[in-house]
Amino acid sequence: MSPQTTAEQSMAEPLAEPQTARRGVDAATLRADILEKLTYNVGKNLVAANPHDWFVATALAVRDRILDNWLPQTRAAYAAHRKQVYYLSLEFLIGRLLADNVSNLEMTEAVTEALTSLGAEYDAVRGQEPDAALGNGGLGRLAACFMESMATLAIPAFGYGIRYDHGLFRQAIVGGVQQEYPEDWLAFGNPWEFARPEIAYTIGFGGHVAAAENADDLGPRVWTPAETVDAVAYDTPVVGWRAAQVNTLRLWSARSPEILRLESFNAGDHVGALADRVRLEAVSKVLYPSDETPSGQELRLRQEFFFASASLQDLVKRHLRVYDGDIRSLPDRVAIQLNDTHPAISIAELMRIMVDLNGVPWEEAWDLTRRTFSYTNHTLLPEALETWPVPLMERLLPRQMQIIYMINAIHLDEADKAHPHDTRLLTSISLIEESHGRKVRMGHLAVVGSHHVNGVSALHTNLLRKTLFSDFDMLFPGKIVNKTNGITFRRWLQQCNPRLTALLVEAVGPEVLDRPDVLEKLRPLASDASFQTRFMAVKRANKVSLARVIQDRIGVRVDPSALFDVQIKRIHEYKRQLLNVLETIALYDAIRADPMQNWSPRVKIFAGKAAASYHQAKLIIRLANDVAKLVNNDPVVRGRLKVAFLPNYNVTLAERIIPAADLSEQISTAGMEASGTGNMKLALNGALTIGTMDGANVEIFDRVGADNIFIFGLTTEDVAERRQHGYDAGAVIAASPKLSQVLEQIEGGVFSPDDRDRYRPITQAMRGGDYFLVTADFDSYWNTQRQVAEVWRQPEVWAKSAILNTANVGWFSADRAIAEYAKDIWNVPVNR
Ligand SMILES: *Cc1c(COP(=O)(O)O)cnc(C)c1O
Repeated sequence: MSPQTTAEQSMAEPLAEPQTARRGVDAATLRADILEKLTYNVGKNLVAANPHDWFVATALAVRDRILDNWLPQTRAAYAAHRKQVYYLSLEFLIGRLLADNVSNLEMTEAVTEALTSLGAEYDAVRGQEPDAALGNGGLGRLAACFMESMATLAIPAFGYGIRYDHGLFRQAIVGGVQQEYPEDWLAFGNPWEFARPEIAYTIGFGGHVAAAENADDLGPRVWTPAETVDAVAYDTPVVGWRAAQVNTLRLWSARSPEILRLESFNAGDHVGALADRVRLEAVSKVLYPSDETPSGQELRLRQEFFFASASLQDLVKRHLRVYDGDIRSLPDRVAIQLNDTHPAISIAELMRIMVDLNGVPWEEAWDLTRRTFSYTNHTLLPEALETWPVPLMERLLPRQMQIIYMINAIHLDEADKAHPHDTRLLTSISLIEESHGRKVRMGHLAVVGSHHVNGVSALHTNLLRKTLFSDFDMLFPGKIVNKTNGITFRRWLQQCNPRLTALLVEAVGPEVLDRPDVLEKLRPLASDASFQTRFMAVKRANKVSLARVIQDRIGVRVDPSALFDVQIKRIHEYKRQLLNVLETIALYDAIRADPMQNWSPRVKIFAGKAAASYHQAKLIIRLANDVAKLVNNDPVVRGRLKVAFLPNYNVTLAERIIPAADLSEQISTAGMEASGTGNMKLALNGALTIGTMDGANVEIFDRVGADNIFIFGLTTEDVAERRQHGYDAGAVIAASPKLSQVLEQIEGGVFSPDDRDRYRPITQAMRGGDYFLVTADFDSYWNTQRQVAEVWRQPEVWAKSAILNTANVGWFSADRAIAEYAKDIWNVPVNR
């Protein structure tokens, strides 16, 4: 690069490879580089280095190798005018990155050797990395898996989100009770990210809107915000498998344009001088700890607009630079995916950017906008569909609100022309809900402003078409499509389960690392006794490792030969951890009543966080812990039943538990889990599912076959029927002696001798309407769990099913999901 090269040129043209390329991936070169980083970046020598210093030095050495791909590939994608995908998500649950990057760069052996030669241990070094928990659960993890698959399929892509100073809270369990502590993942710095203080956009809030003289309704306006905050970019490279491509995760951090009010400060008001800054920068301080209910908070709306506006300003600027100022080519060169409704305000904001700032006439702007956006719906739960009070929108985002009114007027007008005099239809599809105080329906805005809308499993998409968005499906046939979720096999098989990966490579060949469908070659081996033995030996080794984690974290000793029965996910009534706890109690009762029967030993493993304000979910956590206390200390059931609630569920803990699971609990009330991805991770690692016909369980059932999955309970139709015609929980409880006994024990204080009434809210909910139909499914679940025990007693039958699970779930790779998005929604080529 000559010193005269301008920044503009460097973005537009691929340049010669830099002289300083750090491609050496042999252990000796890495060792030298790690030492250099330790000395000159961390500022320590060999004697003083602690494990965290080794982590930083290793991450920096690895990062150099990523950069060698990242910068030229990004430039080359612009130069070749390749269509860019922008994935907008309020959450990216990325977890740790060191092992992910090292493995995708195929440097695991070299890094291990380099560190060993320096007297450090790779596993210990990896363990120093904080878990980046910029998400709540499945939705955020999906965004992380998708970023990795887009890089793997060499699709040029940016992820856009918020760089929260504090991600999801850290959970501790104290006396059985969940305690929340702020997560401080940035306290020791973040070696993966690049601060880009020069890439900053002004984000406005409030103020007023003025029209130019004789401008018509659809003409441009001038918005003068009352206050502004800057969005500053922080970039993290995202490495694809075998470094196919390196993409960018660009997260925005808020920076007040005013550092402090010097006048106030000098006048002695030191706190007041900083108050505005603190208030404005709050926008990127914390992740909202809820994935199922919108907080009605202004701060949440500010977060959504903040990241949507920054991302759009950034991508439009890039587009105009690369395409000589031609905004009209945007839909041909750019695809924007909205991960749920959180970024839906982008649709109004892009209209503002086009109409007000770039002089595009309204009709044309609307056409360009709709051809650019697509939207993924993640839930049917009415309480989880975002709506914003009109007065709040008018105050905080006055111009965007005008635009939404205008979009709505035209939208309703068109519908009225096509279906005259149908007021029901107009009420149903209006972007404004008029019934309980006027609110903007963000899901509706996302549907109207997108060319495609997708659900995340076959069942969920069918329900979307038939229920929530049935009128839209009639108005816009073909717009609603299905894209069943997937998971990245690099993280959820190769990195988290190296033992199984080695066995699979040996059994079906190394192509399995690139093509998950090769897993099907395992099918004939499922009945092969020696392969079964090896497969189950891997499982056992993983269980021994997990048993150590359980012992270390909560002091509970579990037997690795017991059945590991696992339910790990956010704690929510619809996911029905309660059903599992009730069955645990019933099993405890049954063992106590007849301890000498031939019981299959079982360990019930739970992990998950409850939103801090979700009292019922927190009470379920407490019940699980109270049950654990009684069961684990009862000598009568010793060796037969143990209960372990592992605190602080996150990606890193999931990576420890999943390879060791025998049974995967996917027991949501049918119709309520949009897809699930935990179900896929567990099946891939050879766990058998016990589940309802819900979300992607249905498709797992289709692929693994009825003999290799345990299905129970009400179907979606049954659930709808019960809810419509009134469900009599009392009669169902009375008809089930087991369930009656369990409820009476809870109510009698067996698990809370110090406070008999502790679980009243739980038992009352069940004896009342039992909205989540726990009581309705109890007997069916109990009976199916006995079938599970029966199969567990036949180790060859179990092993065969476990192998067939791994063999048959290759389709759930995020690569398959992303290839479908690329072809059917984004119209971008897949280079693999
Ligand atoms: C996969 C994953 C989830 C989603 O799990 P579900 O069982 O699909 O709800 C949530 N949290 C973490 C940390 C995950 O890895």
